Amino acid sequence: MSSRTLSMTDAVHAYLLQVGVREHPALAALRQETAALPAAGMQISPEQGACMQMLVRLLGARRTLEVGVFTGYSSLAVALALPADGEIISCDVSADWTAMARRHWQAAGVANRIRLHLRPALETLDALLGSGEAGAFDFAFIDADKANYAAYFERCLQLVRTGGLVGIDNVLWGGRVIDARHTDADTTAIRALNEQLHADSRIDLVMLPIGDGLTLARKR
Ligand code: CA
Repeated sequence: MSSRTLSMTDAVHAYLLQVGVREHPALAALRQETAALPAAGMQISPEQGACMQMLVRLLGARRTLEVGVFTGYSSLAVALALPADGEIISCDVSADWTAMARRHWQAAGVANRIRLHLRPALETLDALLGSGEAGAFDFAFIDADKANYAAYFERCLQLVRTGGLVGIDNVLWGGRVIDARHTDADTTAIRALNEQLHADSRIDLVMLPIGDGLTLARKR
């Protein structure tokens, strides 16, 4: 028994995937193709995808945001959990990675739910705010360049409705958040945001030890 999170050995993780996650075949295919890329570690795990799908369904989400697409796994997971008239506004700057994403979104039959904006995410988020979309989204997922995390969070918090949710990935950053020897911009930005969110009275907060750490911030 453990009063903390169980250490996730390979064997326990395999069991969890076997009986705890129902990965859609389209997600499995995308994960398999992404595994061949040097940057494959940037993809979220199957159990995190399933967790996000559960959250989207619990929220009754229809409109969602994604900051950082990579090869499209989390967008696809969310899209599969949305109703037929649901929408994801996805932000990324990589034409290469998102080309793979688009191919898999189309194969899964949900490409019509995903609007990809290929430009810096802050521009897309500011444009949404500028066109009166504050409070118009149910869910946002932030998983992009860490130095801009605080800026992404502020905009996403404005864009989600009261009771809406902002998810922030990589908040444990491979454990570097507690290692003072790491003073690079990414680690510093994640540490600062974690501390800021802990003190932020605008949100309900939980940091889940799933994947590389996933913070959930519910807008009060
Ligand atoms: Ca990530």
